[in-house]
Amino acid sequence: MPFMTSNVIKNFFTGPATRPYPFVKRQPFPRARARLLYNPARCRFCGICANICPTQAIKMQEDRENLRIERVYDSFACIYCGRCAELCPNSALRMQVDHLEPADRKAVVRSGSK
Ligand code: SF4
Ligand code: SF4
Repeated sequence: MPFMTSNVIKNFFTGPATRPYPFVKRQPFPRARARLLYNPARCRFCGICANICPTQAIKMQEDRENLRIERVYDSFACIYCGRCAELCPNSALRMQVDHLEPADRKAVVRSGSK
């Protein structure tokens, strides 16, 4: 009991332990893997990212009608492990430290070779 009393008295004079979110947002950690950035201009559609993705969040699909390859990315399937960004030979993928805004709809990003 005496231990608790001293804690209670101490807490009267210190600020709150929690952040007043959403008014004050925490800064992201410097090496956080929170978002995957894709630069289609650098992509050569080699398929390495699709082959090594553990959750198959990236898929390569053949568009036979238009004779091109489509790269499909499903951010809801992505676990942000960063393997694809590490292994992309053309630096078309990069991990970002800031998180995506919450979404209520599943967004699948498609980009195709020329
Ligand atoms: S993002 Fe990189 S690894 Fe993936 S298909 Fe494009 S060039 Fe290849
Ligand atoms: S970060 Fe990981 S889970 Fe997400 S697309 Fe890349 S390899 Fe797949």
